[in-house]
Amino acid sequence: MESIFLCAISNIASGSCNEDCGFCAQSARYQTKIERFRSKPIERIQNEAKAAAKAGAVGYCLVTAGRSITDETLEYVSKAARAVKSLDLDLKIIACNGTGTKEQFAELKKNGVNLYNHNLETSERFFPNICTTHGWRERYETNEAAASAGLGLVLGGIYGMGESDDDRVDLLKTIASFKPMSSPMNFYIANPALPIKQPVMSTDEALKWVRKAREILGAQPRIMLAGGKEQAFGDRLMEAIEAGANAMVVGNYLTTEGMDSAKLKDAIIGAGYKVATPAECKAAFAAMGA
Ligand code: SF4
Repeated sequence: MESIFLCAISNIASGSCNEDCGFCAQSARYQTKIERFRSKPIERIQNEAKAAAKAGAVGYCLVTAGRSITDETLEYVSKAARAVKSLDLDLKIIACNGTGTKEQFAELKKNGVNLYNHNLETSERFFPNICTTHGWRERYETNEAAASAGLGLVLGGIYGMGESDDDRVDLLKTIASFKPMSSPMNFYIANPALPIKQPVMSTDEALKWVRKAREILGAQPRIMLAGGKEQAFGDRLMEAIEAGANAMVVGNYLTTEGMDSAKLKDAIIGAGYKVATPAECKAAFAAMGA
């Protein structure tokens, strides 16, 4: 029976980013109605980690808004990672804190972070259409730096921002070249305050791209359905597993609500799959040399 890996996200520093990524509700340039805060109390991060483990998550991602890792971010994320590790919940810790250097990633690793997430978002060619304040190349180099510091990569993108099929294929080929542990697939959901105006991808189209992602990424990486999975797949979410997905975000996203955790688990089990255990997660990572 196939196991589906669940991963939870904790938004530990939200909003007020100076960058202009046209898909991101956390950019200060757009009038999105989101909660903005500079940090979340460590105890709350720990409580959310306990809830994530209870909901079946094997990964827990500490996300901060902003272009790059600052000294302050590094200290804060390191403290949060140590606090979560001290709970012995058997969670892989992922950090997602913008661009960074090999030295910064080595520091995160020393403090218990296992994987780094910095999505390329789209192809190098299409990137200037979605962001003008920084370049795609620095995202690419950040992944190189994280990998060279010994962190596993969680590397994906957003599908449905107006990019062409060729852009999607190029994005997937670049992701494949990094041999990531996991590749999140986000499906763009327009927010009235954001400049990118695109309809939600149809379910058939989303399934086609999950199949294509599996074909290009090969058998090893987890393909993780993330933001927008509820809207893009609706009640056909489990068909995405047949198409090649084997991981999903459980719980809420950074600024939007996800489907109820218990309902997601029930749907996975009801469709004849099981939720991966921490032991299976460790084995999968070991098989990938992590
Ligand atoms: S750099 Fe990150 S947080 Fe800032 S606007 Fe872009 S995606 Fe959002």
